Amino acid sequence: MTDSPVHDPNDVAAAVPDLETIVSLSKRRGFVFQSSEIYGGINAVWDYGPLGVELKNNVKRAWWKSMVQERDDIVGLDAGILMHPQVWVTSGHVGSFSDPLVECGTCRRRYRLDELPGAEGLSVTDLADPTVIERFRLICPNDGGPLSAPRRFNLMFQTFMGPVQDDASIVYFRPETAQGSYVNFKNIQQSSRKKIPFGIAQIGKSFRNEISPGNFVFRMREFEQMEMQYFVRPGDAATAAFDDWLPRRLAWYGQYGVAPERLRLREHAKDELAHYARKAVDVEYRFPFGWKELEGVHNRGDFDLSRHAAASGENLEYFDPATEEHFIPWIVETAAGADRAAFTFLIDAYREEEVRGERRVSLSLHPDLAPYKVAVLPLLKKRPEIVELCHRILADLKRDLMAVYDDTAAIGKLYRRQDEIGTPWCVTVDVDSLEDMAVTVRDRDTMTQERIPVDGVKRAILDRMESARS
Ligand code: ATP
Repeated sequence: MTDSPVHDPNDVAAAVPDLETIVSLSKRRGFVFQSSEIYGGINAVWDYGPLGVELKNNVKRAWWKSMVQERDDIVGLDAGILMHPQVWVTSGHVGSFSDPLVECGTCRRRYRLDELPGAEGLSVTDLADPTVIERFRLICPNDGGPLSAPRRFNLMFQTFMGPVQDDASIVYFRPETAQGSYVNFKNIQQSSRKKIPFGIAQIGKSFRNEISPGNFVFRMREFEQMEMQYFVRPGDAATAAFDDWLPRRLAWYGQYGVAPERLRLREHAKDELAHYARKAVDVEYRFPFGWKELEGVHNRGDFDLSRHAAASGENLEYFDPATEEHFIPWIVETAAGADRAAFTFLIDAYREEEVRGERRVSLSLHPDLAPYKVAVLPLLKKRPEIVELCHRILADLKRDLMAVYDDTAAIGKLYRRQDEIGTPWCVTVDVDSLEDMAVTVRDRDTMTQERIPVDGVKRAILDRMESARS
């Protein structure tokens, strides 16, 4: 898929005008930093700072909750990143997990063919045509130089296992988590005694040597996936499972705050389908750089288990005790990215408004996703009794929630800081609190304030979190 912007006048606007707004907020407030920045950085790897790791963990937790915790028919797995190299031969990744690469004859820059200006709209058949460069008069976007014919570039990273570095010791960094679920199908089915239909969910790192990474954490070389493989009876049951999962996955993004007008579905054309897919529909989001894939839902047929059964010699058939049939299950997959999802929630939560003549930036993150749920702030940090009460409230909150204390500025500024990192509620302790044992709870989005007894603060925050879920 190309990462270049769309130019449709009827298109909806992105939630932020440009990526820079989010990149600079991320760096300034500690969501995301460039990897190895003091050495000039390494391309397409990003580090999550103190707030980013909370956000991304919360995204993964929200996914796990809806895909495992709340389901009777799905169980979890955490498979190794390194797998037997034959897995990637059988899956087709060694042979065909590649993108078309072209190189400029003068400046030597390399490009992914489908991302060149003039090639954005080309069909998969055209992109595979060796004469595509001449036919569409494509030139180097940097210096206008001549481009080589496209060659396939395999996206898998490889390394060596053990002390000898030869072809026999090559192993791959997994480019997707899904294969771990396929090769463990029998282990999981037998140990959990699940009956079909059932699913295996997994969250973990994947690695792809992308030719043109970019757009911040949208396309990275090291990233995290959240994938679920749903095993069903062959044929119609797979179509029904697909039709059930697709709207559920779309709704999940809305449930956690993404505006419905910036989400859409896009079905893959026949010549665009991956080698394993019978049907594929992407959930797309309107990023500042265009409509892009957030997640793919795929009907993979019996491709995976049939191939692994044939290559390993293991019988991967399922026995249905009700009908006394043996069959290879079909698989419906939901494949999402944790980084892409966290990025989307961050972008879509961004708000800028004018409040009493001042610019207010806030992140209207769903409370379940917000890094901190609550901040405890003293109105006067010079009064030790106020600070002491703040710390008592904070200690109680921290037993159940991510909470933070801040006294490094005047209250107005403290509120603005919390708004900007998406903290849904601030608890302010003032002089009156010492008399009436009550505090002010301020809401991030409405900026309304409510006086609540100190003893009821945690309950009030937990209740508000609960009502944000319904
Ligand atoms: P694309 O078309 O964007 O290259 P893909 O179709 O190859 O993606 P899948 O193989 O279906 O993606 O992977 C599932 C999900 O994993 C994607 O929807 C995306 O959220 C995430 N993902 C894939 N590649 C990357 C990457 N390089 N960086 C970050 N996330 C990624």
